[in-house]
Amino acid sequence: MKKDVLIIGAGPAGIFTALEMLRKGSKKSIVIVEKGQSVENRCCPKAKTQKCVNCKPYCHITTGFSGAGAFSDGKLSLSPDVGGDLPTLIGEDLARETINYTDGIYLEFGADTHIEGVSNTDAVKEIRKNAIKAGLKLVDCPIRHLGTEKAHDIYLAIEKHLLANGVEIMFGYECTNLILEDAVCKGAYIKKGDETAEIHADTVVVATGRRGADWLEKICAEHNIAHEPGTVDIGVRVEVRNEVMEKVNEVLYESKLIGWPEPFKNKVRTFCQNPGGFVSQENYDNDLAVVNGHSYKEKKSDNTNVAILCSHNFSTPFNQPISYAQKVGELTNMLANGQILVQRFGDILDGKRTWPKELAQSNVRPTLPDAVAGDITAAMPYRAMMNIINFIKAVDKVVPGFASYETLLYSPELKFYSNRVKMDTDFNTSIKGLHCLGDSSGWTRGLMMASVMGVLMGRKLVEDK
Ligand SMILES: Cc1cc2nc3c(=O)[nH]c(=O)nc-3n(C[C@H](O)[C@H](O)[C@H](O)COP(=O)(O)OP(=O)(O)OC[C@H]3O[C@@H](n4cnc5c(N)ncnc54)[C@H](O)[C@@H]3O)c2cc1C
Repeated sequence: MKKDVLIIGAGPAGIFTALEMLRKGSKKSIVIVEKGQSVENRCCPKAKTQKCVNCKPYCHITTGFSGAGAFSDGKLSLSPDVGGDLPTLIGEDLARETINYTDGIYLEFGADTHIEGVSNTDAVKEIRKNAIKAGLKLVDCPIRHLGTEKAHDIYLAIEKHLLANGVEIMFGYECTNLILEDAVCKGAYIKKGDETAEIHADTVVVATGRRGADWLEKICAEHNIAHEPGTVDIGVRVEVRNEVMEKVNEVLYESKLIGWPEPFKNKVRTFCQNPGGFVSQENYDNDLAVVNGHSYKEKKSDNTNVAILCSHNFSTPFNQPISYAQKVGELTNMLANGQILVQRFGDILDGKRTWPKELAQSNVRPTLPDAVAGDITAAMPYRAMMNIINFIKAVDKVVPGFASYETLLYSPELKFYSNRVKMDTDFNTSIKGLHCLGDSSGWTRGLMMASVMGVLMGRKLVEDK
């Protein structure tokens, strides 16, 4: 098969590339290769089984049209300060401008017009004052909340639009390698079960997301595609009763707090806050089970969950952040018999594991029912654990009750953003004809920024003759 543009991965980065090409009137032929299923065929069996059954060959939560976005909470962060480092590559003004433009596309496809966290009221000022007292920075970030069910509908509408306008989408096909000749990318090898094929294209866009970060790192090493190791985030997901978070949930929806706690003074931050949300599990190809969280627009729980993440960098002689984080995850999974571990904050401070019967004594009930009560400190590196404990104590000054005995910590919460592909402002890699976008490129960490990168890529491909 020969096409003008081959896009690998149908997450927000890949689909917004194709979408923007269509919007700009491109007549180029486009094929998207996606290893998962179409939006309408994506289905997580946990809704019926109540338990993660570790789907093979892939997890429907992270794989399929719209990528990790379809089942995600769908919080669009409308600030260049959130969602990765793309603004450092393209400039803050262009990032801001393109966020507004891309937000407009989400609205066209049916996103809620309401924006959370924009008011600079006395209540926000009070939260900021407490954050300052606690040595924390409060980041301003307006948020458009799609909600898991609505995100699904919006991406379904985008999928139908792409198909109706001639974009070919090959579902169930996995890209195994790139076709390179004399440092020029000419296409990719794909497979579905035992069937293998080659797709030739003038331009290849790799947008394989978090799941594909590991694969892309190997491809970069194999083909000498210029890249550098970035950071990896290791942390926990914290869950408390809604009453504890009531004020920040109401005023900000999502409190983006950053701290540099003693004794290490590493950057620690909150991420992905889900008022009335649910803690969830996602499984990676190598059977790694990691914790995440999401919330629905209508269905609400009694709890709020939020991730607390610490960035990790390495230099010499060891510089493989993904492998490091995987080992932490594997060790944690091992202690939970392949599941997610949960422990009460007070038990961590008391130096004891949590027992299942003790979870039942608390006001807060885990929204991830198959999480295993145990001891996350037995697997968490000391530096990360101290960062988390001292950060939680600081947040308690902004959100009284956050550091309560019963507060739940789930582990492992891992974010793999490591391999950063070196690119110019037009997203040209060191290999002619090859561009890398979204979370797998190491430049984005969220729905909006991945979509923005796709929009800019789409415009560039329309300009290229
Ligand atoms: C549970 C959950 C909740 C989240 N909530 C939010 C949120 O509220 N707000 C927010 O901003 N972000 C959220 N995120 C993160 C957000 O979903 C991602 O940042 C975003 O989807 C990245 O987009 P992407 O296009 O780079 O990659 P992805 O969305 O990961 O898409 C990549 C696609 O590539 C496919 N693929 C991978 N490898 C191959 C291959 N070799 N061949 C073919 N196809 C391949 C995958 O199947 C996938 O569909 C959440 C993520 C998860 C998992």
